[in-house]
This record gives sequence, structure tokens and C-alpha cells, in this order.
Amino acid sequence: MPMSEGSVEIKELVKTYTDDRGRPTFTAVKNISLPIQDGEFMVLVGPSGCGKSTTLRMVAGLEKITSGTISIGGRVVNELEPKDRGIAMVFQNYALYPHMSIFNNMAFGLQLAKKKKDFISDTVGRTSKALGLDHMLDRKPHALSGGQRQRVALGRAIVRSPKVFLFDEPLSNLDAKMRVQMRSEISKLHAQLGSTMIYVTHDQVEAMTMGDRICVMRDGLIMQVADPLTLYRQPENLFVAGFIGSPPMNLLKGKIQKREGGLVFVENAEKNGLVFPLKGRLEQLAGKYVDKEVVFGIRPEHLSDDIKEGLAAPITSTVEIAEPMGSESLVYLKAGTGNLIARIHGEHLYHLGEEVTVQLNMDKVNLFDAATENVIR
Ligand code: ATP
Repeated sequence: MPMSEGSVEIKELVKTYTDDRGRPTFTAVKNISLPIQDGEFMVLVGPSGCGKSTTLRMVAGLEKITSGTISIGGRVVNELEPKDRGIAMVFQNYALYPHMSIFNNMAFGLQLAKKKKDFISDTVGRTSKALGLDHMLDRKPHALSGGQRQRVALGRAIVRSPKVFLFDEPLSNLDAKMRVQMRSEISKLHAQLGSTMIYVTHDQVEAMTMGDRICVMRDGLIMQVADPLTLYRQPENLFVAGFIGSPPMNLLKGKIQKREGGLVFVENAEKNGLVFPLKGRLEQLAGKYVDKEVVFGIRPEHLSDDIKEGLAAPITSTVEIAEPMGSESLVYLKAGTGNLIARIHGEHLYHLGEEVTVQLNMDKVNLFDAATENVIR
């Protein structure tokens, strides 16, 4: 079956950097495979140094591939020049030509491709209007704000009508407000153009709000690929559980034990920490882990100070820090031998040292194997 034009297939991709003499120095990408569908918005996210930019640069053709293949539209592009790959790239530092007008910055690629003058002025005109840049086409980049410059960089990519857009941290030089605005502009653009977009960021909020799917990377490896909600609700491993979500998921180390009445999770078992009885789904999952180390994960919003009958037994805790934000409060609690963060409604103002009773929504708990760090299913 022929692949559609904008699909990108990354297969067993490896990148080992070498020194001047060709001796290997560092393997930044360690055999990753990732199929990206035509029209999909795929975000590569992970901490600094995880290999996301290196991966993107190999798709762009800016970095030589050590082994594996990259195909665009069903065609292997490993040996193709960047300009022949049907891609356009938008960088963090905009990479505009400072001595050229905005018009020429946007038109440059089309001029190189020897497009007709009328076509160029028409395309640049239309695109600059859509981006709100049409009244500043004569200016040079230095006379533009950061957000406007990033829009020029976007416009320069759009006029080339690439099949695939590649973004490398395009918003990190902008202030918080402009970032939010540009984020929605890029999402809108994706909806309008329907092109494939591959977007690199270290910011998990950007990843969650923009991606159709998100590929979480660590140390040159893929940790999970999923849509935002699946990633949030069903992290495959401790890394994803801790990386996605802010504040992060509460992760308590402990053991599964058999007690009268059934299985329980005991936090910090040696020091007799909190005890959570496991029922139904959790009891089944924990069956194979009796007397073994596990990690108990629960999101801050699944702790509540509104205690309901018939649910998990409430636990007593003490407030260490309270961050009221109006609509809700983040409350950092000391409970058992550890700490818990709760995201609770903002009506009650909590104070340092105050005692709070909280209840966990046990339906939302994830258990992880402490040895493999993978979720228990
Ligand atoms: P960041 O968000 O900081 O850019 P990243 O996930 O995009 O991080 P990469 O730029 O892909 O990371 O780099 C991955 C790893 O490869 C890093 O540890 C980096 O130090 C290393 N690296 C990058 N370029 C080279 C090079 N030319 N030679 C050796 N190692 C390199």
C-alpha cells in the first residue's frame, strides 16, 4: 500500500556522534522506531539531552544517520539533501537573515526554488496577512518583537508548502504570554493546513496542549508514545508518570503485604508508613507482588479533603506548604513517613502545620514494579 505523502517513518534509528577522527564519542539516539501518520501533530518531549533534537535534525537531514532509516511519504530519505525532503524547519532562534526585509526573508526559499515573481508575491502576501505581518513586510528583523520574528520564521516555512513541518523548541525565546498565544496559533495552523508536524520541546505543557500524540524520550530511548490523556492516565513507567503532569504524580515507595482482610500497600514498610488496603482491580494487580517492592502512584487531584463515606479510609496529614491559586490550592502534606501533594478546591485557606484529613480515590491509583519501573498490569 502506498504511504501518504506526509507520513514519516523512523525505523531503528541510531545516532552516534564521533570525533574529528571518526571515533565514536556519544550515542545520543539508541535505536528508536516511531511511525508518524500523514497530518499528525507529533511532539517529541523529554529532558535536556534525551536526544529529541538529534532525532529531529536527522529527519531534517541536518545530521547524518548512524544506522536505521527515515522515510518521508514512503521514500527512504537517508541520503537526500534537506531541500529535497519536502520539509521545512522552524528553529528556536528564528534563524532569520538580519539584512533582509521581512518580505525577502519569507520569499527567499521560493526565490531559490526559482518560482515566478507573481507567485512569490501572491504567496508571501497571503501568508503574511494570515500571520498579521502584512503591514511590516519592509521592516528588517531587528525592528520586530520576538513573537513577530517567530511568526516570520513560521511564514517562511508555510510559503514553501512542505509536507512536513519540523519545529525545534520554537517558542522558548518568547515570554510566557506570547508562548501561549503562539502555541494556539501553531495548533490552528495545523488544523488549517493538515500537514504533518513534528515538534520538539522540553515543556510538557506544550506537549500536552499541542500534540495529537506525544513521544516521551529519555537517554536516547522512547519511554512511551500515546495521546495526551492516555499518557497522563496510563503512564507505562515511572519516568513518564513523573515527567508528565505538574505538580507531578505522587510516587510512594513501599511493599505489598498480605494482612487480615486482604492485600495492602505499605508505604516505607520498614518504618511502618501509610497503609492502603487494595480492593478489586488493585488487589488483582498486586497479587504477584506480595512482599515485593512497588511504587504507588496517585495524581494530586485524586486526593480530596471532602471525605466521603464508603470510600478508602481517610488519612491524617499535616500541611507543609500551601499554595492557594484562587480556583484551587496545591497543598504539600506530610503523611506517614513521606510527602503527598494534593490539588484541592480553593475555598479553604490552609496554613502551615494545620492538620488535614484527606481521602485517596483508589480507582485512580497506578502501581509500578519498583525493580523494572514499569507499570503493573
Ligand atoms: P536539549 O533540549 O538540551 O537540546 P535534546 O534532547 O534535544 O536536549 P540533543 O541535542 O539531541 O538533546 O542531544 C542529545 C545528546 O547528544 C546530549 O547529551 C548532547 O550532549 C549530545 N550531543 C549533541 N551533539 C553532539 C556532538 N556533536 N558530539 C557529541 N555529543 C553530542
